[in-house]
Formats: sequence, structure tokens, C-alpha cells
Amino acid sequence: MLPNSLIELDRAHLVHPLASYRGHETAGVRVLKSARGATAIDAEGRELLDGFAGLWCVNAGYGQQTLIEAATEQLRTLPYATGYFGLGSEPAIRLAARLAEHAPGDLNHVYFTLGGSDAVDSTIRFIRYYYHAKGTPQKDQFISLESGYHGSSTAGAGLTALPIFHTGFGAPYHWQHKIPSHYRYRNPVGTDDRAIIDASVAALRAKISELGTERVAAFYAEPIQGSGGVLVPPAGWMKAMHAVCREHDVLFVADEVITGFGRTGPLFACSEDGIVPDLLTVAKGMTSGYVPMGAVFMSDNVYNTIADGAGAAPVGHGQTYSAHPVSAAVGLACLDLYENGLLENGRKAGAHLMAGLKTLSDHPLVGEVRGRGMLAAVELVTDKERKTPLPAEADAGRRIFDRAWANGLIIRAFNQGILGYAPPLCCTEAEIDEIVERTRLTLDQTLEDKDVRAAMKT
Ligand code: PLP
Repeated sequence: MLPNSLIELDRAHLVHPLASYRGHETAGVRVLKSARGATAIDAEGRELLDGFAGLWCVNAGYGQQTLIEAATEQLRTLPYATGYFGLGSEPAIRLAARLAEHAPGDLNHVYFTLGGSDAVDSTIRFIRYYYHAKGTPQKDQFISLESGYHGSSTAGAGLTALPIFHTGFGAPYHWQHKIPSHYRYRNPVGTDDRAIIDASVAALRAKISELGTERVAAFYAEPIQGSGGVLVPPAGWMKAMHAVCREHDVLFVADEVITGFGRTGPLFACSEDGIVPDLLTVAKGMTSGYVPMGAVFMSDNVYNTIADGAGAAPVGHGQTYSAHPVSAAVGLACLDLYENGLLENGRKAGAHLMAGLKTLSDHPLVGEVRGRGMLAAVELVTDKERKTPLPAEADAGRRIFDRAWANGLIIRAFNQGILGYAPPLCCTEAEIDEIVERTRLTLDQTLEDKDVRAAMKT
């Protein structure tokens, strides 16, 4: 009874993110009822290994008592405190200080948001303000990468390079430009790391020169492109792109909304990449998805330029829930977990995940297995030599997702036939093995699909 009535209520009233509204009405919602560790349970009582940590965010796993207690305690003592009018709360101040201590280099100033999209959107405003403060407001052109995802705010969606976020929304704006992704598996220059880095460097230089150095404000990159299909750049790619930005006085923004907080191993992927960006965005793992929160880190230079430019006037940027004390309390409890074994477990589990997924490489449908830490992908093809993607009829995004679900596994199934993995960092080796085995079963079943078999013969 209950699930059916929920389905009807959902159909009538709840508008879902990134959904075909009509398609969703037909399919109906799938309700998750509860979760523990890395396992979620749906309304029908089916146990599902969550190989995607919700939406690459529940890094600590479900049911972590310390996070629940931190939130509960904070709700009791002070459920809300504004950051406006010079006010503040202890958890937010302590979280900002601890994050600054962990962040690479001089990223010492933290502005809290509610999630990733508004963190990215805030960077655009901060960067515009920064150049106004410097007396170079004409530096107002932004560059990002094809296949990049930087959220779906009005301005941030134009930095995102996935067409579905543009069509019908009037995005991107004329000041938002793209250069090709490093996408190693399908890069026209081949799979040689040096050649890929050189091509990206050349593309960024060319774009800056086309727009004019005096016009270019900033370049945005994810250390690993997540929503574009888990595209891992060659080692040294971020460093090379960062150097080009330095040379041309262009701010470098690292979008670590997915990669932050242990997803690739360390707390920040940038530290592994050996760079200190000018601004850095995070969300998701910061509170492990238990409560909403994101953040923008600013370097001393960016912060001081804005501060000096504004002088006695307020910097006109803010949100009611910036630096929310309950989210901050959870953020602090998350940091405790990361520091006391969760990062370490994530590193070990990540190595195990990569080794496990690599055993799928000889499966007839697997073109490439890639990843770093607990962030991985399996790209499916019908012809390994020609790297032919699955046919559109295979409807990978729906069919493979449903099939994995039926096999007790939650993964991200991208429409282009890429399977994405981002399990909670608390996973045991046995759970990782199970994720791999359920994927193998899902692939074997997909191999039996008529349209897939037909495509493999051509
Ligand atoms: N930036 C990146 C790299 C992301 O992956 C995401 C979300 O997945 C966002 C920004 C947007 O974050 P949110 O969905 O919290 O608004």
C-alpha cells in the first residue's frame, strides 16, 4: 500500500533533478527506505550495495553514529546562526580553520555554500569582483573543458559542458568558452600521456590567445572529470594547465566537488597533483551527504585583493544558510573520521576496487577500466579495436542501471555506456569484491541483449 501511494504522490508532486519529467511519471519513483554502511534498502526490502555512495557523496557510509550525534547535538544547542551582521557560530569557525589547515598552500579563506553548484557560482562572482578590485574588469572571459561538469546554477551551467544542461536554458553565455577534454581513451592524439598533455596545453594557449590574455579571467578544471564519464587525466596534466594559467595571469579554479575528501585518496586531489589553485570548490564528501554544505577556498591573494578592493564596503555576496552550524558540526565530525582511518581505508579499498575492476578488462564488452582511488569507470564498447560505443538502442543509462539494481548493486550508468563507481570509503574488501562480481553478472546479461549482440557482429 505505502509504496504505491508514495509512487502516486511522487508522480503528482515531486519534480526530480535531471529527469525526463514524462519518462519519470511513466517509470515511477524507486524509494529508498534505509541504509547502513555501504548497503541501502529499498521500499521492497531489496538490499543494494551502493557502489556510487548516493551521488558520489556518502564517503563515510550510512549510519555513522558520530555524524548523527554531531548533528543532533548541534540542533539542540544552536540550530541556526547567521553569518551576516558580523555574527558566527563555533562549528563554522572551527571547520573553516581546520579546512584551511588541510588545504594545499595558501588556500586559507573559506566561504561556505549549500552545495557544489552555488560554490561554483560563488567563484564566478568572486572572480569578477577580484578583477574589478584590481582595476582590470575587462578580464571577464571564462574557459572550461568539454565533458566538464560544474553544476547547474544559472551561470555555472555555462561552465558545464554537457549539452543537456544548456539546451532550452540559453546557456552557455557568450563569455564562457570550452577547450577539448583530455579524455584519454578517445583523444584524437592517441593515448600517449605526453601527447595528451601537450595537446591540452596547446589548446588552452590557443584559446587564451584567441580571446586575448587581457580578457581571460579564469580556467576551471576537475582533477578528474566526474559527470563527463570519470575521465582521468594523465599524471602531470593539472600541473601543466596550472602553469599555462600562471604564465598568462589567469586564475586557476580546481573544482573538487567530487574529488575532495578522500575520493581519490588524499583529502584534496590537488595536493596529489602538486598544485595550489587560486580557488577550489568542494561539497559532497565534506559532510558525507548527511546535510547540505559546500565551500569555496580562496588563496591569500584572491581574498586580500577582494578585501582591499571593497575597503569599508560589504562584499555583496551571501546566503541565509552560508556557514550553517548544523552542517558545519557534521563537517567537523567528518574530518575526524577522515583523519582517523577513513582516508586510509579509502586508499586500500580504492586499490582493491581498481584491481577488481581490471579483472573485467577481458570481458567482450569492456573497452577500458580507469580510475584513481575510490573513483572509477568501466567504458563499454561493442568493438574493442574500433572502440565502438554501445548502440543507442541499448539505452545503457536505463537498462544497465535497472539490471545492476536487480542484481543488488547501485552504480552510475552513463547514457554513452560508461559505468561509474564511487563507493563509500568505508567499504570492506568483501563489499568491493561483491561490487565487481555484481558488475560482471550485469555485463554478462547485457551481452545477451539482442541489440548489443547485433551491434557486436557488425
Ligand atoms: N562541480 C562538480 C565537479 C560536480 O561533480 C558537481 C555535482 O556533481 C557540482 C559541481 C554541483 O554540485 P551540486 O550538485 O552539489 O550542486
